[in-house]
Parts: sequence; C-alpha cells; structure tokens
Amino acid sequence: MFESLSERLETAFKQIKGQGQITELNVASTVKEIRRALVDADVNYKIAKEFTDKVKEKALGEKVLNAISPGQLMVKVVQDELAELMGGTEEGLDLKTSPTVILIAGLQGSGKTTFSGKLARFLKQNRHKSPLLVAADVYRPAAIDQLKVLGEQIGIPVYHEPDQKDPVLIARNALKEAKTKGHNVIIIDTAGRLAVDEAMMTEVADIKAAVAPQEVLFVVDAMTGQDAVNTAKAFNERLDFTGVVLTKLDGDTRGGAALSIKYTVEKPIKFISMGEKLDTLDVFYPERMAQRILGMGDITTLVERAQAQYDEAVAARIEKKIRKNQFDFEDFITQLQQIKKMGNIKDLLGMIPGMGKAVKDLDISDDAFKGIEAIIGSMTPYERTHPDVIDSSRRRRIAGGAGKDIQEINQFMKQFEQMRQMMKGMNKFSAAGRGMRAMK
Ligand code: GDP
Repeated sequence: MFESLSERLETAFKQIKGQGQITELNVASTVKEIRRALVDADVNYKIAKEFTDKVKEKALGEKVLNAISPGQLMVKVVQDELAELMGGTEEGLDLKTSPTVILIAGLQGSGKTTFSGKLARFLKQNRHKSPLLVAADVYRPAAIDQLKVLGEQIGIPVYHEPDQKDPVLIARNALKEAKTKGHNVIIIDTAGRLAVDEAMMTEVADIKAAVAPQEVLFVVDAMTGQDAVNTAKAFNERLDFTGVVLTKLDGDTRGGAALSIKYTVEKPIKFISMGEKLDTLDVFYPERMAQRILGMGDITTLVERAQAQYDEAVAARIEKKIRKNQFDFEDFITQLQQIKKMGNIKDLLGMIPGMGKAVKDLDISDDAFKGIEAIIGSMTPYERTHPDVIDSSRRRRIAGGAGKDIQEINQFMKQFEQMRQMMKGMNKFSAAGRGMRAMK
C-alpha cells in the first residue's frame, strides 16, 4: 500500500538523517522533497503545500532533545501531520439507534455491494448485531443477485422486491421488515452510475429523506486518485454523508485519495477495504495509516485481526495436543485455515515493521498454502492423525495424489518433523517452568 510514497518519503528523510541539528536550510530541502512526494502520490498541490508548511513550522519550532536526532524528529512531525491530515483519531459508526439505518452510496463499480456485505459481516461478527441487507438497485438485476450471493455466504438475510421499481418504497418496506423481524441494523445498497449524475443524486437523496439514516457512507475506489476526491465533493454537497469508505487499497494506489479526502470534504474516512474477499474490511485509523505510510508497519491491526479470527476452543485443543506431543496434520491444516482467515498474506506481512518494503516485490498470493494443502489433502484420515506411519511407499502415493515430486514430500515431512521437535523442545522448557513455579 502506498509503496512509492513510502519510498519517496524515506529518501526525503535521508537528507536530514545524518545532520547534527535542525536548520532552516536542511528542513527546507527535506520539506521540498516531501512536497514533491505528496504531489506525485496524487495529492492536490494546495494540500501538499499546506501540509509541508505545517511540517516546516513544527520542525523548526521543536527543540531537538539530546536523545532524538533531527531525522527522528522530522519523521515524528511528519507522522503526526499525516495522521492529522487523514482525520486525527478514528471515528466509529453511530449504532445507538435500533434499527440503525446505514445508507451506502457511490459510483457504480466503486465497491458498494462488496462493502455492504463486508460491513454486514463485520457488524455481525465484531459488534454482535443482527443486520438486514437491502438491495435497492432497481436497474441492475445482477446487482440484486450479487447481494443475495454475498448474503448467503455470510448468513445474513437480504431484503429485495423483484418487481418493485421504486427504490424509496423498497427502502421504506425494508425498514418495516427490519422492525418486525428484529434486525437492529439495516444496510441499504443503492444503485450507482458510471459518473455523477442528477438522477442518481436525486434518487439517493430521496431514499435518505424517506428512511432518515444514522449513517450515510460514501464508497469510493481509491485507485481513482483525484477523481475520487472530486466525486466525494459532489456526493457530499447533495447527501451530506457521514463518512467515507475507501476501497481497493490492495491495488496499486498512490495514496492521493486517502490523504486528501478528509481535508476536502471534512468528513472522516471510516473504513478501508483491501480485497474482494469479505474478510478484508478494516476500521480506518489515521495514526496507524500514517505509521504504515512511513514504513513502520501496523502491529496493532495485525493483533486485532488475529484476535478477531482466534477460535479459543480450537486453540485450546491444539495447545493440549502440542503439550502431549500429539500435533498432527489435522492440527496443522486447522492452523493454516486460522491464518488464512486473517486475510491476504502479503497484506499481513506488510503490517510487520520493516516488512512492507521487504515483501513489496515478492509474489505472495493467497495460494501460498495450496501446495501444503494438496499434500495433506492426499493423505488418508488415518495418516493425517498418525504422521509416524507415513513410510516411503505411502509418500509415493501421496506425491502422486498431490501432483508433487517425492522429494517435495520428503522435504515437507522433514519440515513437519522439525516443527514437532521444536514443539517438543518448547514443552520441555515450559514443563521446567511449571516445575519451578510449583517449587516456589
Ligand atoms: P458496486 O457496483 O459499487 O456495487 O461495486 P461492486 O461491489 O460490485 O465491486 C466492483 C468490483 O470491484 C468487483 O469486481 C469487486 O469484486 C471489486 N472490489 C470491491 N472492493 C474491492 C477491494 O477492496 N479490492 C479489490 N481489489 N477489489 C474490490
């Protein structure tokens, strides 16, 4: 995410890193580089200029403490200002009213329908809500089907009226349905068009007037840079939305939209979406995003994702088996599945400080585990739970089933054995620890 911006900023900091002190001169040249980097990341010049003026003023105003170098100080000032530019602290959804009405608006193809599904899943899983999805796009039957498919995947009902041509009525009826069926959130996915047009704006504004939503979320494709900002302006003038959702941040976006939308429309970015799969929705935290842009990773989000996917019962069962030295291929596959649920691997690695840059050019696809899954998939259930019985003739059979060379199977078995040995070692260590505690 925003790799070229990150690199450019790093280069800008290099100018001041070796310097003994902050001076007008070295701050000025660093700031000039930062401004160029922002403009190249598709940030509007006026915003970039204002940003760097503030950075300059702050950097020169700060006393360099003994413990911190001019380079560190500069990074800190830029980090704070980036976070401020993107919105300061994070803004959650207003979910107090029941049912909470959330209206989703944006251009066609921006990712509205996908986001509606992601949001419904997020509210169900993370906020323990009972959402109702509403298909209010009366022009594209495919859009209704798409929402129905998403709803099925996440186990959330979708309200739709195939023969109804008036989206305002659909929205009203859906609200009634939510009340009778006890849904405490309704998410209305509206129709979009390829460009901002009056008819679309009127339609969304009419739906808004009819159902008085607590949240109107404007969904925009971050890849469209300055266009995203202009579209946001147009939607905000008509809809006075409550928040922005930036999608497709997994793509090759330069960062312009993320950095300038808040400044331009004075509305917070509430969520970011980084993939087509339903599990890649993140609450937007300006401070964390600033850290990521500066190559500092985002451990907090990584831990939160892990916690959200962490199934305690499964983890306890596996831990028990590890303790008894009984870790087998079934457990291995279960753990891989837990990791996969956390999202795209490259994206996860990018959250570890310093890793983003290291893995930037690597081709790490979601299929990274496919080979392992194929090997384990070719084992019989008995073999999976009794790894020790896998002799050379079984290995040959597994290789054939998984479409692998026998060497690859041998290599995999060796790695698995090493892993088990390591677990055994850890057990000894923790058993000793337990013994020592018991002696106290
Ligand atoms: P809508 O017309 O606004 O409802 O947009 P859709 O939800 O149908 O999304 C348009 C296309 O963008 C689809 O192919 C989605 O799979 C894709 N898409 C949506 N969100 C994301 C995202 O965060 N990342 C990527 N890479 N693709 C996305």
